[in-house]
Amino acid sequence: MTNLATPIDRNAAFTPDKVAIRFEGAAITYAGFARDVARAASLLRRRHGVGRGDRVAVLATNGPAYLALLYACARLGAILLPLNWRLAAAELGYILQHAEAQVAFVEPAFATTLQEAAPELPAAPLEIPEGDADWDGPGRFEDPLLLVYTSGTTGRPKGALLRQEALFHNAVMSHHLHGMTAEDHILAALPFFHVGGLNIQTTPALQIGATVTVHARFVPEAVMEAIATDRPTLMLTVPAVLRALMATPGWNELDLSSLRAISTGSEPVHQALIDAVMARGVPLLQVYGATESCPIAIYTRLGGDLSRGTSTGLPGLLCEARIADEAGRELPHGVAGEVLLRGRNLFAGYWRDEAATASCMQDGWYRTGDIGTRDSDGYFFVHDRKKNMIISGGENIYPAEVERVLLEHPAIAEAAVLGAPDPKWQEVPVAFLVLRAGMVLEEEAVRAHVSARLARFKVPRRVVFTDSLPRTALGKVRHFELRPLIGTDA
Ligand code: ATP
Repeated sequence: MTNLATPIDRNAAFTPDKVAIRFEGAAITYAGFARDVARAASLLRRRHGVGRGDRVAVLATNGPAYLALLYACARLGAILLPLNWRLAAAELGYILQHAEAQVAFVEPAFATTLQEAAPELPAAPLEIPEGDADWDGPGRFEDPLLLVYTSGTTGRPKGALLRQEALFHNAVMSHHLHGMTAEDHILAALPFFHVGGLNIQTTPALQIGATVTVHARFVPEAVMEAIATDRPTLMLTVPAVLRALMATPGWNELDLSSLRAISTGSEPVHQALIDAVMARGVPLLQVYGATESCPIAIYTRLGGDLSRGTSTGLPGLLCEARIADEAGRELPHGVAGEVLLRGRNLFAGYWRDEAATASCMQDGWYRTGDIGTRDSDGYFFVHDRKKNMIISGGENIYPAEVERVLLEHPAIAEAAVLGAPDPKWQEVPVAFLVLRAGMVLEEEAVRAHVSARLARFKVPRRVVFTDSLPRTALGKVRHFELRPLIGTDA
């Protein structure tokens, strides 16, 4: 039976001694990794009774055993449930109960949290013991493989179910966007519990027989050390990671010449960030997608046109994309509408939530909830999420645009813009700002900065200075957590 684990075995046959994964000083060859996958499959099946369709939870930082478990699930037709280790026990408890996990593999540091979250759930350490190895299993490409819960910005988190074939199609697009080959060496430091961390470079690299250096978690100094010594050819980041690297002493002097490209996405990527990376001679590739698209959907590619500023690029090799109106009809270029996606990289639906699935699917297209436009050559620009959009006096304001302008001010370190109810204008923009250490800024100066660059109706009516902004694991601002503060502090 061929499934997503088959390429691991094939790579082990073609290049047994080639290093598949580097982790904390150890090197695991393709032959060794294929054996780990086979042992993990045996462990799941024989010791934990895991069969087709069962959910296997994992609560751990990144590591090779995590990946072996993923491919073992592919072999068995089981479903991996990667958990965000930053969540509180109650949040994890909800997910584990909703997904009805069979067993959870846990890193010692999170064992107490897991016990609190799901006291009845059988738990096992995340280790692949020596012993039996199942080299075969009933898993197929059509089987679901990943159950990833969204961060739940609109109520309870939803579990997006991704089939093995979605990961396969996603990997082909990653190869295309990065020009990735078996000769590549990928630095993987984003969390595996997020499809971006797992599927933009890590699983595509293992599918094609390349080498991945896995970091347990993102530590700027460790990543910089790895760039200097491991000489990776590709690196995946999100804007928050790039900003953190740029703020770390030594970044400006670091030799980046081994990197053929850096890819980034997950939120709008500002021109200043693009320029700062490009100025170091490294092409910055943009990726747009969502958990529901595994995630790769729209991208700029190495060797393609990288001159269109903040464009997230063209529909990927195996994904269709359009800008559409409410009825799903494609809009002409230059007209803003919702981004719709279609392809075999798309999810199979939300776990046990038919209403949520139905509400975002339209004639086979996934309605992303993002507002964007296309230029006359078909390049996409993603402005913001529909639910973030502010409507003020009949005018649309994309908070992302105002945030970008605010961040151009030298005293502003972080910015989030939200709409506050207003009796006259319906909504008005309010800015939450974190200032750089030792900087002082008056509210009036903030307004002057924005009004010199944007239309009057986009200028924040009120400014709230705060010490930090609530963020997701990938560094995206959790706007919904700020919303309750508007009425009081603002
Ligand atoms: P939730 O779905 O619960 O709100 P989330 O933000 O963690 O949480 P993801 O699936 O990780 O969910 O994020 C997908 C969204 O991220 C997209 O719909 C879009 O809003 C944004 N996004 C991803 N890539 C880009 C990009 N390159 N440019 C702009 N926005 C992007």
